Amino acid sequence: MEKYTIVIRGDELSHQVADDIDNKLKGHFRRDDVNPDLVISVGGDGTILDAVHKYLDCQCSFVGVHTGTLGFFTDYRVNEVDMLIEDIINGEGAINRRHLLEVEVVTNKGSEIFYALNEMRTDHGFYSQAVNISINGDFLEVFRGNGICVSTNSGSTAYNKSLGGAVIYPGIQVMQLTEVAAISHNAYHSLGSPLILDSSNEISLISKNFNPLYLGMDHIFHVIDDVVEVKVRVSKRHVRFIEYRERSFIKRIARAFIHS
Ligand code: NAP
Repeated sequence: MEKYTIVIRGDELSHQVADDIDNKLKGHFRRDDVNPDLVISVGGDGTILDAVHKYLDCQCSFVGVHTGTLGFFTDYRVNEVDMLIEDIINGEGAINRRHLLEVEVVTNKGSEIFYALNEMRTDHGFYSQAVNISINGDFLEVFRGNGICVSTNSGSTAYNKSLGGAVIYPGIQVMQLTEVAAISHNAYHSLGSPLILDSSNEISLISKNFNPLYLGMDHIFHVIDDVVEVKVRVSKRHVRFIEYRERSFIKRIARAFIHS
């Protein structure tokens, strides 16, 4: 590692911590905000999402310091900054690859690819949507309701969990389809439970309500006109997180959701 950058949440504490990291790394490495080898995120999981989208096309790794509650992408606490500096200087971290979700939006004018670390969402709180869902060309259902969420295992602890989806152990190459407020009565039926699919699958979503399509990709929101089809798959692209010490996923979910 030669070059680093820091992505900072807007609050004062995060800026103070980032200044501290910057001062301590300066004598050892070069700061490069355009083409860094290491991106240090200071804030929360939301800050990591910001950092990942900002440096998506960069051949870099990510590490996070959390200045709020304990996160899922952030490994160091504010009082562990010296430990982080030491770990970066010693450079012995293991690479933990987390796959992205790939969403291809096909319109009358062509197609565009979007990526998410957590999830994609087509939910709309004001108008119900009728969405034809097929998996690898096999028709599954017409979903009616607020919308659809497809998450990665990294995103399984985020919006997916609020929708009743399963928490999935990191490293497994899967995506999880969950319903957002399905309309369910004797005329309309949908699966009603989360569906976990491996990387051999492609989800196809087709709807008359996709003009425009309201598409959430992590913290980023797109409005796209004249959408013919949305294809969702597990991407071959990964985000590289550096883990300088082994963190137990089970301890992390226990601390985040059950007891602190
Ligand atoms: P945000 O304020 O940046 O994030 C909302 C909350 O989700 C924050 O507490 C954030 O943690 C947490 N979060 C983000 N990724 C997570 C992960 N992989 N596992 C567990 N918690 C995670 O909100 P935003 O900018 O609108 O959207 C960013 C993400 O927030 C989305 O990808 C979505 O998954 C999640 N979100 C969840 C809900 C929900 O559960 N109802 C609603 C909207 C958005 P930090 O505080 O550490 O940043």
